[in-house]
Amino acid sequence: MLGAMQEWDLRVTGLLDHAAREHGSREVVTQWADGSRTRTDWSGIRRDALKMVQALRRLDIYPGDRVATLAMNHARHLAAWFGATGAGCVLHTLNPRLFEEQLVWIINHADDRVLLYDAAFHPLVERLLPRCPSVARTICFDSGAFASGSFGGGFDDWIGREDGEALWTPGAEREACMLCYTSGTTGDPKGVLYSHRSNVLHTLAMVAPSCLDLAPRSCVLPVVPMFHANNWGLPWASAAVGAKMVWSQTNDPQVLCDLMREEGVSHVAGVPTVWFALFEHLERTGAAMPPIRQALSGGAAVPASVVERLMRAGVRVVQAWGMTETSPIATMTYEPADWDEMSFEEQVAVKSFQGRPVYGSEVRVVALEGEAADDGPAASGALQVRGAWTVRRYFGAEEDCTDGEQWFDTGDVASLLPDGSLRITDRTKDLIKSGGEWISSVELENAAVAHPDVMEAAAIGIFHPKWDERPLLVVVRREGSELGERELLAFLAGKVARWWLPDAIEFLADIPHTGSGKISKKDLRDRFRDYRLPV
Ligand code: ADP
Repeated sequence: MLGAMQEWDLRVTGLLDHAAREHGSREVVTQWADGSRTRTDWSGIRRDALKMVQALRRLDIYPGDRVATLAMNHARHLAAWFGATGAGCVLHTLNPRLFEEQLVWIINHADDRVLLYDAAFHPLVERLLPRCPSVARTICFDSGAFASGSFGGGFDDWIGREDGEALWTPGAEREACMLCYTSGTTGDPKGVLYSHRSNVLHTLAMVAPSCLDLAPRSCVLPVVPMFHANNWGLPWASAAVGAKMVWSQTNDPQVLCDLMREEGVSHVAGVPTVWFALFEHLERTGAAMPPIRQALSGGAAVPASVVERLMRAGVRVVQAWGMTETSPIATMTYEPADWDEMSFEEQVAVKSFQGRPVYGSEVRVVALEGEAADDGPAASGALQVRGAWTVRRYFGAEEDCTDGEQWFDTGDVASLLPDGSLRITDRTKDLIKSGGEWISSVELENAAVAHPDVMEAAAIGIFHPKWDERPLLVVVRREGSELGERELLAFLAGKVARWWLPDAIEFLADIPHTGSGKISKKDLRDRFRDYRLPV
């Protein structure tokens, strides 16, 4: 027997309708790269999004067409998220930090029809366009010198001709709403095509107290770029509860700290490098930690030292594990039932793992390819995931990327601890294989960054005639520090197994990062391809 309840399509535009209706005057603030700060609110975002729907129709852009953005974080970009999806189009967020070759490849693969971009990327757009014939129209988010686009004005002028008296393009909840490509750190970029429904379900899980704990009084500052993995779902989730949003076009820690203090930010979301930079800034300036309530960290393992520091400042830390393919959040370090009975150290440990699945996603660990199953407690193996917002098939692919039971192989190596927590030990291809045994690059790095003079560290495997591979540790020292190899090795001894200790340590001025701010192991491996370890 079927239930007798209403059909109510789960479309992302419904989230914005709710925000504008119930929390219309809740602000959306933008800090621009030129230092100015502007304000709108959820009603304003909805009005602009509806105008953009009209403007897209005038350009003969149809439902299903891909509308790309090449932009940093700001309110116009936010309006464009809802404008593109509200017109029934597929919003395609491009990562401006990718190599030009990759961008050309991705734009052509996605068959983007419209491109909206920040003036700062105008020279890049000029180089891309001749190689991307599908892009029929360009619109610059900024007005002024570079706002040439195909239309001759900036985004505000473009939508300014419309009155916003329109309806969203109707459609079913399983239709595509957004396309995000993986950054290609592990091969050709692959497009993940989110549906309205998958994004709304992800949103409903995210706002819960056990996850992001979002409410109308929350004020969310996503430092994570809007082009990275669905912006971790934060625009949708903030709209769902009518939270205030604060966007910054720059990641300068001074600017971010000012925003946190002056706008009453409660929730900040960023990759670990954001927290490193924040602490470094606080130390250099002697400023106090801004009074935020919650730090969401993801994208890479966050060292326990960072978790501890945030928690000592009274900040709730939620580390999430996920990937572009999982919308992106699949597991979350929510507080277990016995949280209050735990010691501070135990609490820090819980938050330093990768958490447990949230309802809507499931994880399992299976034997690594070519390895025997490991049945011990906290056995380590290949991490697989499935759920309501996990990819089934990459955009344009002919076959599903999951097995018959919908399990998707993440390429991560992990173990499940007795309390159910997920512990990511590495990416399959970043593991260092020494004498047939695995060394976790992540754990080596975490041990190294616990040293007060280490800003950043990365471990990679270097060819070794006897052991196959041995670890090289690449380190960026804190400014002014003279930390040497011997001293750092002594610090690491006792923290990791003896045979894990790196065979060499190289001190660099900085480490290459990917477009999403993570350490790029691929670039490091290229750079140290011919490196000879000391005998
Ligand atoms: P890419 O790094 O290729 O751009 P994603 O941004 O989708 O792709 O990153 C997903 C990967 O990031 C995961 O497979 C995992 O290796 C890593 N990752 C994400 N969150 C965490 C975390 N909390 N701890 C450790 N690793 C993480």
